[in-house]
Amino acid sequence: MTGRTGSGKRPGRVAVIGVGILGASVGWNLVRHGADVVLVDAGRPGEGVTNWSFSWVNAGNKTARKSYFDLNVAGMAAYRELARTIGSDSWWYPSGHLRWADDPAAEAKLLETAGLLAGWDYRVEVSTGAEVRRRLEPALTVPGEVPVVFYPDEAWVHGRHLVGRLVGQAVASGAEHRSGTAVRDIGTGADGSIRTVALSDGSRLDVDAVVNAAGPSASRIAGLVGRHLPMRREPGAVTRLDCARVPVHRAMHAPHVEIRPDGDTSVVLHSRDVDALIDTGENRRNSDGCSTNRRGASFPRSAIPASQRHGWPNGPSRPTDSPRWERCRPCRATTRPLRTAASRSVR
Ligand SMILES: Cc1cc2nc3c(=O)[nH]c(=O)nc-3n(C[C@H](O)[C@H](O)[C@H](O)COP(=O)(O)OP(=O)(O)OC[C@H]3O[C@@H](n4cnc5c(N)ncnc54)[C@H](O)[C@@H]3O)c2cc1C
Repeated sequence: MTGRTGSGKRPGRVAVIGVGILGASVGWNLVRHGADVVLVDAGRPGEGVTNWSFSWVNAGNKTARKSYFDLNVAGMAAYRELARTIGSDSWWYPSGHLRWADDPAAEAKLLETAGLLAGWDYRVEVSTGAEVRRRLEPALTVPGEVPVVFYPDEAWVHGRHLVGRLVGQAVASGAEHRSGTAVRDIGTGADGSIRTVALSDGSRLDVDAVVNAAGPSASRIAGLVGRHLPMRREPGAVTRLDCARVPVHRAMHAPHVEIRPDGDTSVVLHSRDVDALIDTGENRRNSDGCSTNRRGASFPRSAIPASQRHGWPNGPSRPTDSPRWERCRPCRATTRPLRTAASRSVR
Protein backbone atom coordinates (compact mmCIF):
# COMPACT_ATOMS: atom_id res chain seq x y z
CA MET A 1 0.00 0.00 0.00
CA THR A 2 1.22 3.44 -0.85
CA GLY A 3 0.00 6.52 1.01
CA ARG A 4 1.10 9.12 3.50
CA THR A 5 3.94 7.16 4.95
CA GLY A 6 5.74 7.82 8.16
CA SER A 7 2.95 9.76 9.87
CA GLY A 8 1.64 6.69 11.69
CA LYS A 9 -1.89 7.94 10.92
CA ARG A 10 -4.51 5.61 9.53
CA PRO A 11 -5.09 6.59 5.87
CA GLY A 12 -8.46 8.24 5.25
CA ARG A 13 -9.71 7.01 1.89
CA VAL A 14 -8.07 4.02 0.24
CA ALA A 15 -8.37 3.07 -3.43
CA VAL A 16 -7.84 -0.64 -4.01
CA ILE A 17 -6.68 -0.97 -7.62
CA GLY A 18 -7.70 -4.37 -8.98
CA VAL A 19 -10.43 -6.59 -7.57
CA GLY A 20 -9.14 -10.11 -8.00
CA ILE A 21 -8.67 -12.37 -5.00
CA LEU A 22 -5.92 -10.12 -3.68
CA GLY A 23 -7.72 -6.76 -3.97
CA ALA A 24 -11.05 -8.16 -2.78
CA SER A 25 -9.42 -9.69 0.31
CA VAL A 26 -7.43 -6.59 1.18
CA GLY A 27 -10.39 -4.30 0.50
CA TRP A 28 -12.77 -6.38 2.61
CA ASN A 29 -10.26 -6.43 5.47
CA LEU A 30 -9.65 -2.68 5.27
CA VAL A 31 -13.39 -2.04 5.47
CA ARG A 32 -13.61 -4.34 8.50
CA HIS A 33 -10.94 -2.25 10.19
CA GLY A 34 -12.79 0.98 9.57
CA ALA A 35 -11.16 2.31 6.43
CA ASP A 36 -13.07 4.24 3.78
CA VAL A 37 -12.49 2.06 0.71
CA VAL A 38 -13.15 2.37 -2.99
CA LEU A 39 -12.63 -0.80 -5.02
CA VAL A 40 -11.66 -0.13 -8.65
CA ASP A 41 -11.42 -2.72 -11.40
CA ALA A 42 -10.80 -2.26 -15.11
CA GLY A 43 -13.05 -5.22 -15.84
CA ARG A 44 -15.38 -7.29 -13.72
CA PRO A 45 -14.23 -8.34 -10.24
CA GLY A 46 -12.63 -11.76 -10.07
CA GLU A 47 -12.46 -12.22 -13.81
CA GLY A 48 -8.71 -11.74 -14.17
CA VAL A 49 -6.16 -14.41 -13.29
CA THR A 50 -8.33 -15.36 -10.30
CA ASN A 51 -10.94 -16.79 -12.66
CA TRP A 52 -8.34 -18.94 -14.40
CA SER A 53 -6.48 -20.34 -11.47
CA PHE A 54 -6.35 -23.98 -10.47
CA SER A 55 -7.17 -22.48 -7.04
CA TRP A 56 -5.69 -25.30 -5.03
CA VAL A 57 -5.30 -24.44 -1.34
CA ASN A 58 -2.41 -26.47 0.01
CA ALA A 59 0.86 -26.61 1.88
CA GLY A 60 1.69 -30.13 0.68
CA ASN A 61 3.31 -28.76 -2.43
CA LYS A 62 5.35 -26.17 -0.53
CA THR A 63 8.09 -28.27 0.97
CA ALA A 64 11.16 -26.46 -0.38
CA ARG A 65 11.62 -24.72 2.99
CA LYS A 66 9.97 -25.44 6.33
CA SER A 67 9.29 -21.71 6.84
CA TYR A 68 7.47 -21.54 3.50
CA PHE A 69 5.50 -24.67 4.35
CA ASP A 70 4.50 -23.09 7.70
CA LEU A 71 3.38 -19.93 5.91
CA ASN A 72 1.14 -21.99 3.65
CA VAL A 73 -0.28 -23.95 6.60
CA ALA A 74 -1.16 -20.56 8.11
CA GLY A 75 -2.78 -19.60 4.79
CA MET A 76 -4.94 -22.73 4.89
CA ALA A 77 -6.03 -21.86 8.43
CA ALA A 78 -6.83 -18.32 7.29
CA TYR A 79 -9.10 -19.70 4.55
CA ARG A 80 -10.93 -21.84 7.10
CA GLU A 81 -11.35 -18.81 9.33
CA LEU A 82 -12.59 -16.74 6.39
CA ALA A 83 -15.15 -19.42 5.55
CA ARG A 84 -16.44 -19.27 9.13
CA THR A 85 -16.58 -15.46 9.01
CA ILE A 86 -18.24 -14.78 5.66
CA GLY A 87 -19.96 -18.13 5.03
CA SER A 88 -18.50 -20.92 2.92
CA ASP A 89 -21.23 -21.67 0.40
CA SER A 90 -20.40 -21.50 -3.30
CA TRP A 91 -16.67 -20.74 -2.92
CA TRP A 92 -14.99 -22.97 -0.29
CA TYR A 93 -14.49 -26.67 -1.12
CA PRO A 94 -12.47 -28.40 1.63
CA SER A 95 -12.71 -31.82 0.00
CA GLY A 96 -9.04 -32.76 0.13
CA HIS A 97 -6.64 -33.49 -2.67
CA LEU A 98 -5.46 -36.68 -4.40
CA ARG A 99 -2.19 -37.35 -6.10
CA TRP A 100 -0.62 -40.31 -7.81
CA ALA A 101 2.15 -40.98 -10.32
CA ASP A 102 2.72 -43.14 -13.36
CA ASP A 103 6.42 -43.92 -13.16
CA PRO A 104 8.59 -45.39 -10.41
CA ALA A 105 10.79 -42.32 -9.87
CA ALA A 106 7.82 -39.95 -9.57
CA GLU A 107 6.04 -42.43 -7.31
CA ALA A 108 9.07 -42.71 -5.02
CA LYS A 109 9.26 -38.91 -4.83
CA LEU A 110 5.54 -38.67 -4.07
CA LEU A 111 5.84 -41.14 -1.19
CA GLU A 112 9.00 -39.49 0.10
CA THR A 113 7.19 -36.12 0.18
CA ALA A 114 4.21 -37.72 1.92
CA GLY A 115 6.57 -39.06 4.59
CA LEU A 116 8.22 -35.67 5.04
CA LEU A 117 4.82 -33.97 5.41
CA ALA A 118 3.58 -36.56 7.89
CA GLY A 119 6.72 -35.81 9.93
CA TRP A 120 5.69 -32.14 9.90
CA ASP A 121 2.25 -33.12 11.32
CA TYR A 122 0.48 -32.50 8.01
CA ARG A 123 -2.39 -34.93 7.53
CA VAL A 124 -1.55 -37.48 4.83
CA GLU A 125 -3.20 -40.79 3.95
CA VAL A 126 -1.62 -43.25 1.55
CA SER A 127 -3.92 -45.83 0.00
CA THR A 128 -4.37 -47.51 -3.38
CA GLY A 129 -6.24 -46.68 -6.56
CA ALA A 130 -8.79 -49.37 -5.72
CA GLU A 131 -9.37 -47.94 -2.26
CA VAL A 132 -9.72 -44.42 -3.62
CA ARG A 133 -12.29 -45.58 -6.17
CA ARG A 134 -14.20 -47.36 -3.44
CA ARG A 135 -14.14 -44.55 -0.88
CA LEU A 136 -13.70 -41.26 -2.69
CA GLU A 137 -13.83 -41.13 -6.47
CA PRO A 138 -15.80 -44.02 -8.02
CA ALA A 139 -15.54 -42.63 -11.55
CA LEU A 140 -11.72 -42.58 -11.69
CA THR A 141 -9.95 -45.15 -13.83
CA VAL A 142 -6.75 -45.01 -11.76
CA PRO A 143 -5.11 -48.49 -11.67
CA GLY A 144 -6.15 -50.45 -8.58
CA GLU A 145 -2.69 -51.19 -7.22
CA VAL A 146 -1.19 -47.71 -7.66
CA PRO A 147 -0.36 -45.86 -4.41
CA VAL A 148 -2.49 -42.73 -4.10
CA VAL A 149 -1.76 -40.00 -1.60
CA PHE A 150 -4.72 -38.17 -0.08
CA TYR A 151 -4.32 -34.83 1.72
CA PRO A 152 -7.65 -34.45 3.56
CA ASP A 153 -7.11 -30.87 4.75
CA GLU A 154 -6.45 -29.41 1.33
CA ALA A 155 -9.13 -27.60 -0.64
CA TRP A 156 -9.99 -25.62 -3.71
CA VAL A 157 -11.61 -22.22 -3.97
CA HIS A 158 -14.05 -20.84 -6.50
CA GLY A 159 -12.22 -17.59 -7.01
CA ARG A 160 -14.90 -15.61 -8.81
CA HIS A 161 -17.53 -16.51 -6.24
CA LEU A 162 -15.21 -15.67 -3.33
CA VAL A 163 -14.42 -12.29 -4.85
CA GLY A 164 -18.13 -11.66 -5.33
CA ARG A 165 -18.82 -12.51 -1.69
CA LEU A 166 -16.02 -10.26 -0.37
CA VAL A 167 -17.02 -7.35 -2.60
CA GLY A 168 -20.67 -7.76 -1.63
CA GLN A 169 -19.85 -7.68 2.07
CA ALA A 170 -17.43 -4.76 1.67
CA VAL A 171 -20.06 -2.74 -0.21
CA ALA A 172 -22.71 -3.65 2.37
CA SER A 173 -20.33 -2.23 4.99
CA GLY A 174 -19.89 1.04 3.13
CA ALA A 175 -17.22 0.49 0.46
CA GLU A 176 -17.65 2.08 -2.95
CA HIS A 177 -17.24 -0.20 -5.97
CA ARG A 178 -16.25 1.02 -9.43
CA SER A 179 -15.98 -1.69 -12.07
CA GLY A 180 -15.32 -1.41 -15.80
CA THR A 181 -13.05 1.56 -15.34
CA ALA A 182 -9.26 1.43 -15.21
CA VAL A 183 -6.83 3.45 -13.14
CA ARG A 184 -4.91 5.58 -15.61
CA ASP A 185 -2.96 7.85 -13.30
CA ILE A 186 -2.16 8.46 -9.65
CA GLY A 187 -1.69 12.07 -8.54
CA THR A 188 0.73 12.90 -5.75
CA GLY A 189 1.41 16.00 -3.68
CA ALA A 190 4.73 17.84 -3.46
CA ASP A 191 5.71 15.64 -0.53
CA GLY A 192 5.00 12.48 -2.58
CA SER A 193 1.80 11.64 -0.72
CA ILE A 194 -1.08 10.10 -2.66
CA ARG A 195 -3.84 12.61 -3.55
CA THR A 196 -5.92 11.39 -6.48
CA VAL A 197 -6.62 8.47 -8.76
CA ALA A 198 -7.67 9.19 -12.35
CA LEU A 199 -9.97 6.66 -14.03
CA SER A 200 -10.49 5.81 -17.68
CA ASP A 201 -14.14 6.96 -17.50
CA GLY A 202 -12.82 10.48 -16.96
CA SER A 203 -13.60 10.67 -13.23
CA ARG A 204 -11.10 11.39 -10.50
CA LEU A 205 -11.15 10.06 -6.95
CA ASP A 206 -9.70 11.92 -3.97
CA VAL A 207 -7.80 9.34 -1.95
CA ASP A 208 -5.09 9.17 0.68
CA ALA A 209 -3.63 5.79 -0.17
CA VAL A 210 -3.70 3.17 -2.89
CA VAL A 211 -3.38 -0.61 -2.76
CA ASN A 212 -1.79 -2.05 -5.87
CA ALA A 213 -3.61 -5.34 -6.53
CA ALA A 214 -3.64 -5.14 -10.31
CA GLY A 215 -2.31 -8.66 -10.91
CA PRO A 216 -0.29 -8.87 -14.13
CA SER A 217 -0.61 -5.05 -14.48
CA ALA A 218 0.85 -4.39 -11.04
CA SER A 219 4.20 -3.20 -12.36
CA ARG A 220 2.47 -0.61 -14.58
CA ILE A 221 0.48 0.67 -11.60
CA ALA A 222 3.67 0.84 -9.51
CA GLY A 223 5.26 2.86 -12.32
CA LEU A 224 2.53 5.52 -11.91
CA VAL A 225 4.11 6.48 -8.56
CA GLY A 226 7.67 6.00 -9.72
CA ARG A 227 8.06 2.57 -8.18
CA HIS A 228 9.73 -0.35 -9.92
CA LEU A 229 8.00 -3.69 -9.41
CA PRO A 230 9.77 -6.44 -11.37
CA MET A 231 7.53 -9.37 -12.24
CA ARG A 232 8.34 -12.97 -13.00
CA ARG A 233 6.31 -14.29 -15.91
CA GLU A 234 5.01 -17.85 -15.86
CA PRO A 235 2.81 -18.67 -18.85
CA GLY A 236 0.09 -21.22 -18.25
CA ALA A 237 -3.05 -22.59 -19.93
CA VAL A 238 -6.20 -23.49 -18.03
CA THR A 239 -9.28 -25.08 -19.57
CA ARG A 240 -12.80 -25.18 -18.25
CA LEU A 241 -14.97 -27.96 -19.63
CA ASP A 242 -18.75 -28.29 -19.59
CA CYS A 243 -20.03 -31.53 -18.06
CA ALA A 244 -23.58 -32.78 -17.86
CA ARG A 245 -22.51 -34.35 -14.56
CA VAL A 246 -19.26 -33.46 -12.83
CA PRO A 247 -17.50 -36.81 -12.38
CA VAL A 248 -14.89 -35.81 -9.75
CA HIS A 249 -15.47 -34.52 -6.23
CA ARG A 250 -12.16 -32.91 -5.36
CA ALA A 251 -8.93 -31.45 -6.76
CA MET A 252 -6.37 -33.99 -7.92
CA HIS A 253 -2.99 -34.28 -9.57
CA ALA A 254 -3.22 -37.19 -11.97
CA PRO A 255 -0.03 -37.84 -13.92
CA HIS A 256 0.47 -34.95 -16.38
CA VAL A 257 -2.83 -33.22 -15.65
CA GLU A 258 -4.51 -31.48 -12.73
CA ILE A 259 -8.29 -31.77 -12.50
CA ARG A 260 -10.85 -30.25 -10.18
CA PRO A 261 -14.60 -29.64 -10.15
CA ASP A 262 -15.69 -26.09 -10.91
CA GLY A 263 -19.21 -25.91 -9.61
CA ASP A 264 -22.01 -28.22 -10.72
CA THR A 265 -21.53 -28.18 -14.46
CA SER A 266 -17.87 -27.87 -15.31
CA VAL A 267 -14.37 -29.01 -14.48
CA VAL A 268 -11.04 -27.20 -14.66
CA LEU A 269 -7.93 -28.77 -16.17
CA HIS A 270 -4.36 -27.58 -15.96
CA SER A 271 -1.19 -29.27 -17.12
CA ARG A 272 2.37 -28.21 -16.48
CA ASP A 273 3.34 -30.35 -19.46
CA VAL A 274 1.08 -28.25 -21.67
CA ASP A 275 2.35 -25.02 -20.11
CA ALA A 276 5.86 -26.04 -21.10
CA LEU A 277 4.77 -26.26 -24.74
CA ILE A 278 3.64 -22.65 -24.85
CA ASP A 279 5.64 -20.81 -27.44
CA THR A 280 6.41 -17.58 -25.66
CA GLY A 281 8.16 -16.24 -28.73
CA GLU A 282 4.78 -15.72 -30.41
CA ASN A 283 3.36 -13.66 -27.63
CA ARG A 284 2.46 -10.08 -27.99
CA ARG A 285 3.71 -8.32 -24.89
CA ASN A 286 2.03 -5.46 -23.13
CA SER A 287 3.83 -2.67 -21.38
CA ASP A 288 4.48 -4.88 -18.34
CA GLY A 289 6.16 -7.45 -20.52
CA CYS A 290 3.29 -9.83 -19.81
CA SER A 291 1.59 -11.94 -22.42
CA THR A 292 -1.67 -10.73 -23.86
CA ASN A 293 -2.00 -13.73 -26.16
CA ARG A 294 -5.02 -15.80 -25.18
CA ARG A 295 -4.78 -18.50 -27.81
CA GLY A 296 -4.94 -21.67 -25.77
CA ALA A 297 -6.37 -23.83 -28.51
CA SER A 298 -3.64 -26.44 -28.21
CA PHE A 299 -4.56 -27.16 -24.59
CA PRO A 300 -7.67 -29.31 -25.02
CA ARG A 301 -6.06 -31.33 -27.79
CA SER A 302 -3.04 -32.04 -25.62
CA ALA A 303 -4.66 -32.40 -22.23
CA ILE A 304 -7.77 -34.39 -22.88
CA PRO A 305 -5.96 -37.44 -24.26
CA ALA A 306 -3.62 -37.23 -21.28
CA SER A 307 -6.50 -37.02 -18.84
CA GLN A 308 -8.23 -39.94 -20.50
CA ARG A 309 -5.10 -42.02 -20.20
CA HIS A 310 -4.58 -41.10 -16.58
CA GLY A 311 -7.92 -41.35 -14.90
CA TRP A 312 -10.54 -39.24 -16.65
CA PRO A 313 -13.72 -41.29 -16.47
CA ASN A 314 -16.08 -40.81 -19.39
CA GLY A 315 -14.53 -38.17 -21.55
CA PRO A 316 -15.51 -34.62 -20.74
CA SER A 317 -17.62 -32.71 -23.21
CA ARG A 318 -16.55 -29.56 -24.94
CA PRO A 319 -14.14 -26.96 -23.69
CA THR A 320 -16.09 -23.88 -22.68
CA ASP A 321 -13.05 -21.69 -22.81
CA SER A 322 -9.32 -22.10 -22.76
CA PRO A 323 -7.55 -18.81 -22.40
CA ARG A 324 -3.89 -18.70 -21.73
CA TRP A 325 -2.75 -16.82 -18.68
CA GLU A 326 0.53 -15.83 -17.23
CA ARG A 327 1.15 -15.79 -13.55
CA CYS A 328 3.02 -12.57 -13.09
CA ARG A 329 4.62 -12.59 -9.68
CA PRO A 330 6.56 -9.81 -8.08
CA CYS A 331 10.18 -10.90 -7.86
CA ARG A 332 13.56 -9.53 -6.91
CA ALA A 333 15.40 -10.14 -10.14
CA THR A 334 14.42 -8.43 -13.36
CA THR A 335 15.95 -10.98 -15.68
CA ARG A 336 14.61 -14.33 -14.54
CA PRO A 337 13.74 -16.46 -17.53
CA LEU A 338 10.26 -17.65 -18.29
CA ARG A 339 9.56 -21.00 -16.70
CA THR A 340 10.32 -23.65 -19.26
CA ALA A 341 10.80 -26.78 -17.17
CA ALA A 342 8.96 -29.72 -18.72
CA SER A 343 10.66 -32.37 -16.69
CA ARG A 344 8.20 -32.52 -13.80
CA SER A 345 4.72 -33.54 -14.81
CA VAL A 346 3.07 -32.43 -11.62
CA ARG A 347 3.69 -29.81 -9.02
C1 LIG B 1 -2.49 -21.41 -14.55
C2 LIG B 1 -2.52 -20.91 -13.13
C3 LIG B 1 -2.72 -21.80 -12.08
C4 LIG B 1 -2.72 -21.33 -10.77
N1 LIG B 1 -2.95 -22.21 -9.75
C5 LIG B 1 -2.97 -21.78 -8.48
C6 LIG B 1 -3.28 -22.65 -7.42
O1 LIG B 1 -3.56 -23.83 -7.65
N2 LIG B 1 -3.30 -22.17 -6.15
C7 LIG B 1 -3.02 -20.85 -5.88
O2 LIG B 1 -3.05 -20.46 -4.71
N3 LIG B 1 -2.72 -19.97 -6.87
C8 LIG B 1 -2.69 -20.41 -8.15
N4 LIG B 1 -2.44 -19.54 -9.15
C9 LIG B 1 -2.10 -18.18 -8.79
C10 LIG B 1 -3.36 -17.35 -8.45
O3 LIG B 1 -4.38 -17.67 -9.36
C11 LIG B 1 -3.02 -15.89 -8.54
O4 LIG B 1 -1.95 -15.60 -7.68
C12 LIG B 1 -4.19 -15.00 -8.14
O5 LIG B 1 -5.38 -15.36 -8.84
C13 LIG B 1 -3.84 -13.57 -8.48
O6 LIG B 1 -4.89 -12.76 -8.03
P1 LIG B 1 -4.77 -11.19 -8.15
O7 LIG B 1 -5.92 -10.62 -7.42
O8 LIG B 1 -3.40 -10.75 -7.74
O9 LIG B 1 -4.84 -10.90 -9.73
P2 LIG B 1 -6.11 -10.87 -10.73
O10 LIG B 1 -7.12 -11.90 -10.40
O11 LIG B 1 -5.57 -10.88 -12.12
O12 LIG B 1 -6.75 -9.47 -10.41
C14 LIG B 1 -6.18 -8.28 -10.87
C15 LIG B 1 -7.31 -7.35 -11.22
O13 LIG B 1 -6.74 -6.06 -11.51
C16 LIG B 1 -7.53 -5.47 -12.51
N5 LIG B 1 -6.74 -4.41 -13.12
C17 LIG B 1 -5.61 -4.52 -13.86
N6 LIG B 1 -5.18 -3.32 -14.23
C18 LIG B 1 -6.03 -2.41 -13.69
C19 LIG B 1 -6.11 -0.99 -13.71
N7 LIG B 1 -5.20 -0.24 -14.36
N8 LIG B 1 -7.13 -0.39 -13.07
C20 LIG B 1 -8.06 -1.13 -12.41
N9 LIG B 1 -8.03 -2.47 -12.35
C21 LIG B 1 -7.03 -3.10 -12.99
C22 LIG B 1 -7.87 -6.63 -13.45
O14 LIG B 1 -9.04 -6.32 -14.22
C23 LIG B 1 -8.08 -7.78 -12.47
O15 LIG B 1 -9.44 -7.97 -12.14
C24 LIG B 1 -2.47 -19.96 -10.48
C25 LIG B 1 -2.31 -19.07 -11.53
C26 LIG B 1 -2.34 -19.53 -12.84
C27 LIG B 1 -2.18 -18.55 -13.96
